[in-house]
Amino acid sequence: MTDLALKHGLQFSDLYDRGGLIRLDRAFVAHLGAAHAELHNRLMAGRADPAALDRKAESDLLVDLAPYVEDFLGDLFGIGGEVRALQARHDKLAPLYSVKRLFVQRRAVKEIKEDAAAQLNGHRLAEELEAQIGGPPKDLAPDFGSRRGVLDWELRYAEAVGRWLDDEAAHQQPIKLALEYAAWATLSREGQARHKRGLLFKVPHRLDMHHLVPVETIEREGVTMLRRPESDWRARDGFALTDAGTDLAGAMDQANYCIWCHNQQKDSCRSGLHEKDGSFRKSVFGVTLAGCPLDEKISEMNLVKARGYSIGALAIVAVDNPICAATGHRICNDCMKACIYQRQDPVDIPQIETRTLKDVLGLPW
Ligand code: SF4
Repeated sequence: MTDLALKHGLQFSDLYDRGGLIRLDRAFVAHLGAAHAELHNRLMAGRADPAALDRKAESDLLVDLAPYVEDFLGDLFGIGGEVRALQARHDKLAPLYSVKRLFVQRRAVKEIKEDAAAQLNGHRLAEELEAQIGGPPKDLAPDFGSRRGVLDWELRYAEAVGRWLDDEAAHQQPIKLALEYAAWATLSREGQARHKRGLLFKVPHRLDMHHLVPVETIEREGVTMLRRPESDWRARDGFALTDAGTDLAGAMDQANYCIWCHNQQKDSCRSGLHEKDGSFRKSVFGVTLAGCPLDEKISEMNLVKARGYSIGALAIVAVDNPICAATGHRICNDCMKACIYQRQDPVDIPQIETRTLKDVLGLPW
């Protein structure tokens, strides 16, 4: 590690030395000044008088700076190409989230009700769609048994629907087909089973606080008991984690589900939910909904991750939680409990943060 070659005449040991960090900061400020003079001036003004920045202005400054911090660090460590490749992997997934929000959730499941969706012949619709969305070669049937196979199919669907929506009048027939398929895949049991490993045809569930964990009743040797459905079991062997956490597509799904409440200064995941008298609200279980105990800028992290900047998102986390690498997605979920979505699935913030950390650690530093 000590042989790492850094840009700007810096040595690896400089990262552990105050003088080295000052030179590093000067190099960043110069980089920013050359790339975006107005943002550079905002940063300098903020540093000169931090108290003059209100909470929203500070958030906006951090969000705007994030891509420049990411570029600078990629260049500093000589991994700019790999950082851009990681950004491109985020961009490639983008159609999934826009089509999910604007087409599947806002149109398909509203225009076609559950009963009607269950009557549709989803497999025939899929066959018709296959030709229109550019299916794989004939001998390579889509693999709905794997996460990768489902996501490949869903991405092809989303890219095609995105193109058709750009000129809806000229694509009425394929759009009708895609709407019917979306309703079937989202609302019918058969469709849900086919897309179980996917993310495009899923709608947030209404929360039943007294049945948060799905269970089934079984009887064994005369004893009635509750258990998780067998399909949800994870075999344990030793003490290793049995949950690999979500992949990039899953984290981006959650980051795009977030509505980035810091823009309205209502990011309760960070600051908690309040009663009219200013005290913290409590959940039905009496748990205080105080939000992040570290005051992490979660909404800002989610926004920057959704835009494709993993280092930038992690940098925002590190402002308030510099030891994020030592926490991970099990340490706490106070943020989720205080998410603005109180009646439906909350944003799975720990998965976004953990994936962001893993994406950054996965770069070839
Ligand atoms: S995680 Fe929830 S509370 Fe926080 S910004 Fe996103 S939607 Fe809002």
